[in-house]
Amino acid sequence: ALKGKSAVITGSTSGIGLAYARAFAREGADVLLNGFGEADAIERERSGIERDFGVKAVYSPADMTRPAEIEAMIRQAEAELGGVDILVNNAGIQHVSPIEEFPIEKWDQIIAINLSSAFHTIRAAVPGMKRRGWGRIIQTASAHSLVASPFKSAYVSAKHAIAGLTKTVALELATHKITVNCISPGYVWTPLVEKQIPDTMKARAMTKEQVINDVILSAQPTKQFVTAEQVAALAVFLCSEEAAQITGANLSIDGGWTAA
Ligand code: NAD
Repeated sequence: ALKGKSAVITGSTSGIGLAYARAFAREGADVLLNGFGEADAIERERSGIERDFGVKAVYSPADMTRPAEIEAMIRQAEAELGGVDILVNNAGIQHVSPIEEFPIEKWDQIIAINLSSAFHTIRAAVPGMKRRGWGRIIQTASAHSLVASPFKSAYVSAKHAIAGLTKTVALELATHKITVNCISPGYVWTPLVEKQIPDTMKARAMTKEQVINDVILSAQPTKQFVTAEQVAALAVFLCSEEAAQITGANLSIDGGWTAA
C-alpha cells in the first residue's frame, strides 16, 4: 500500500525504528535508515530489507545532535529516494538520575536528540511534502509525553515538548494533505529499556527483577511489554488514506498505562 513512497526513519538501526523501517518496506516503501551501530550489522539490516521486501534501502550516519548532518540526511533521501513522503522522528536516548545529579551534558544531549532533531528534520522535509501535496510526519513520543516518572527529567521534558511541536506543525500543515502525529508507547523491550535498568536499580535501590516487575511492568495494567512490531503497525495505519483525518493526535499504545 506504500509502493512509490519513501520513508526516512531516524534512529532506525535498532529497536522500534528498525521495526518501522521493516514495516514500511513490507508495504513497498523505499526507506532511509539512520542511527549508530557497528557498520557490518547496519549493512546486514540495510541489504536484508532490500532482499526481503524488494525495495530500495539507503543508510545515513547523520548524528541527530548536529543540524547540518540532519539537513544532509534529508537531502540524501531526496536525491537517492526521490523525496521524503514519510518522516518518522524516532531517535531517542534515556538517562535516569535524580535532578540534582543529572549531568548537564546529558540534559543537552537528550533535548537535542529527542526533541530538537525533529524540528530540524521537519523544517527540511516539509517543502518537498508541500510540493508533492502529500506527507506523513510521525514522532515516537512516549507515555512520558503524557505523564511523568521520577529521575527522567530530561526525557519527560523532551517528550512533553515533542507532543506540543506535533500539534503546532499539524495545524500549520492541515490543508496540505500532510498529517502530523505522535505515537506514545509504554514500555517496549529494546536496548533503550534494557540499558536503563542498572541506573534505575541504583536510583531506587532495587534488584533487576524488582525494576522489571515493580517499576516497568507495574506501570502497565496489562503486565506485558508492548512490541516494536505493534508500534510499527500503528505507524503503517497512520500512513494510510483511512488515517488522513488523524492529525495533531497523540496515540497511546501503552497497555493501559496512561488510563490509570
Ligand atoms: P533503541 O536504543 O533500540 O534505538 C534508538 C535508536 O536511536 C538507535 O538506532 C540509535 O542508534 C539511535 N540514536 C541514538 N542516538 C542517536 C543520534 N545522536 N543520532 C542518530 N541516531 C541516534 O531505542 P528504542 O526503544 O527503539 O527507542 C526509539 C524511540 O522510541 C525513542 O525516541 C524512545 O524514546 C521511544 N520510546 C521507547 C520506548 C521503550 O520502552 N523502548 C517507550 C516509549 C518511547
